[in-house]
Amino acid sequence: MAQLSRAVGIVLRTQNHAETDRIAVLLTPSQGRLDVLAKGARRLGRPGGAALDVSNLVEVIYYRRRGLALLKDVDLRRAFPRIKGELPRLEAALTGLTWALRLVPKGQPDPTPFRLTWQFLEGLETGTPPGPLKVGYLLKLLAVSGHAPHLRGCLRCGGEGELTWSSREGGFLCRACGGKGEPLGIKLVRTMQGLARLPLPALGRLQVAEALLEEIERLLLEFREVQLSR
Ligand SMILES: [Zn+2]
Repeated sequence: MAQLSRAVGIVLRTQNHAETDRIAVLLTPSQGRLDVLAKGARRLGRPGGAALDVSNLVEVIYYRRRGLALLKDVDLRRAFPRIKGELPRLEAALTGLTWALRLVPKGQPDPTPFRLTWQFLEGLETGTPPGPLKVGYLLKLLAVSGHAPHLRGCLRCGGEGELTWSSREGGFLCRACGGKGEPLGIKLVRTMQGLARLPLPALGRLQVAEALLEEIERLLLEFREVQLSR
């Protein structure tokens, strides 16, 4: 009998595999991303069916064979019913979990991304407005994955005047230091700084226009892809 291991994790994604199997990607505190293969999960009554839905917190028991983690048993710990029942919360959760999938490497024994993601889901479940919570989470997730954007003034001179966004250089860059394009509005600059600085549970108190949050998310997405491609 292969040696059994145990892990707690948040389901970031599931995908069908072969005819009746499912692969679930978990975010765990002990080993970063962990892919587990649930043999026969799509057959009725087999372990790993509904328990492995995205955003669930689960405990899995698995064994390794030829480099694959094979699911032996799964126990649902927390299902976040409110997130699943309210579309804006579900959309925010799915975006956040997709970012975690992109940013957290496999086999990394760092509990910080897991804790942050857990806090994000708890906030969504307990009624924090999803918009600022999501963008604040994305900023903090970038930071704990080693890709924090520079937000304290211009990344070259520290000045606060005529700041533009540079995904390549890594944050705010003023026009005098070579920043290109239209300067960012002061509201956007201050909002980004606030979202990065405040702890997640405090973000519900921020009053931010939806359009501003969308603009910040767009800048961060471009930043993430440029930083990951380096
Ligand atoms: Zn500058």
